[in-house]
Amino acid sequence: MAKKYILALDQGTTSSRTVLFDDKGKICGISQRETEQIYPKHGWVEQNAVEIYQSQLETMHKVIRDNNIDFEDILSIGITNQRETTVVWNKKTGEPVYNAIVWQDVRTSKYCKQLKKDETLNSYIQENTGLVIDSYFSATKVKWILDNVPKARIMAEKNELLFGTVDTWLLWNLTKGKVHATDYSNASRTMLYNIVKLDWDLHLLNNFEIPASMLPEVRSSNHHYGNFEFDNHKIPVTGIAGDQQAALFGQACFEKGEIKNTYGTGCFLLMNTGSKPKFSEHGLLTTIAWGLDGKIDYALEGSVFIAGAAIQWLRDGLQLIDNAKDSEYFATQVKEDSSVYVVPAFAGLGAPYWDMDARGSIFGLTRDTGKNHLIKATLESLAYRSKDLIVSMEEDSGVRLASLKVDGGACANNYLMQFQADILDTPVERAEIIESTALGAAYLSGIGVGLWKKEDILKNRKIQKEFQPEMDAVKRKKLYATWKKAVSRSMDWEE
Ligand code: ADP
Repeated sequence: MAKKYILALDQGTTSSRTVLFDDKGKICGISQRETEQIYPKHGWVEQNAVEIYQSQLETMHKVIRDNNIDFEDILSIGITNQRETTVVWNKKTGEPVYNAIVWQDVRTSKYCKQLKKDETLNSYIQENTGLVIDSYFSATKVKWILDNVPKARIMAEKNELLFGTVDTWLLWNLTKGKVHATDYSNASRTMLYNIVKLDWDLHLLNNFEIPASMLPEVRSSNHHYGNFEFDNHKIPVTGIAGDQQAALFGQACFEKGEIKNTYGTGCFLLMNTGSKPKFSEHGLLTTIAWGLDGKIDYALEGSVFIAGAAIQWLRDGLQLIDNAKDSEYFATQVKEDSSVYVVPAFAGLGAPYWDMDARGSIFGLTRDTGKNHLIKATLESLAYRSKDLIVSMEEDSGVRLASLKVDGGACANNYLMQFQADILDTPVERAEIIESTALGAAYLSGIGVGLWKKEDILKNRKIQKEFQPEMDAVKRKKLYATWKKAVSRSMDWEE
């Protein structure tokens, strides 16, 4: 019998990729295409939604061609995507009425600031969507399109427009306009979905003046959404999840208390909190991890704004290193304990501090401080900021972390991973496949098509390297206490 495959469509902020997995969950091929970013005004970030779909389709065909695979050997398609990015299109013609407004776009931030003054609305949004009012999420982006694109509101009220996050837009196009749906994880990032009642929130739809007829149906992340038809083949689309949630699934964090950390430009941490939503006391977001056959798992989410970006700063800003990888070598040249601290608050500090007036700072400089100390301290700052979030998650959930599962570009750094294990006093597991996002989409899709069960995924998970904590408790406590002191002194800087 011919080998069978699963296609994971991974539509990210800067590129569209398709990853081809075989029926053992092994990567057989990857095709990738950059997508254009459009910056019409300061703080505005858009993409051409048609290009998003076309580039995704191209990478899908290319990976199949390059690996000499027949469409009939593709079992199913899974989708994972940049979250919150908003597309509104004409139901009849399929044409977007405006460019996709990307999650990073802050055109509605003034409006959000105004909304934040309304305390009743603030708490309503936190208690029902798990989010905090922010331009990041889809709700105010949809409202902006309806308020600013000529005729959009009239058309929406006549039931002529559809809204979708990127997964929904891809699905609608793949099924030639037959299916308008999303999964729980993506719905939970719109600030329109009630994660407690598991339905679109009518109060918020009224508040943002968004007609319910525009909204997609919300389904389980392993649902059979529809089929992609090509050359007389029907390929089922059976898995959808937002990128961070897909990575949590790809890392097999199925149990309450399990956390994955993605070390990219920023760090994204998600903790599975089980079947009930946990609301944070530390400014973390509550979100839906996934729905599997109608059963929901929730997650707590926190992010470090500047993580790998701080390594880029060492490379491009300070020109201390030629490439990110070299940071590991230079950090290991410092033999004594850390005495220098870098707080990478270049854009303020997020959870649990939430101080947008904090600024990047360096502490503990002495006459013998050299470049290696700065590089080491910058790497360590990623681990300290991640620990800040993990401690908050443990407090919010009441569960102590057993091991941290890591992925993303900077998890290749052994010094950083060992320091992370030491400062957490928890083992850090680097998976063999660090393409966790695409893997998560493939797993969901494989479950959807009946190829795998959760147990198979757990068995299939291979650890490339495990970092065991080695630091003694007194030193760990002292280092972390000094970090907290450094953070407190970097705060409230900007006037
Ligand atoms: P993104 O998906 O956000 O673009 P990636 O997962 O590709 O990020 O990771 C790239 C980031 O990780 C960059 O910011 C880079 O500076 C950092 N990085 C990559 N390799 C290393 C390394 N070996 N050590 C430290 N940082 C690294």
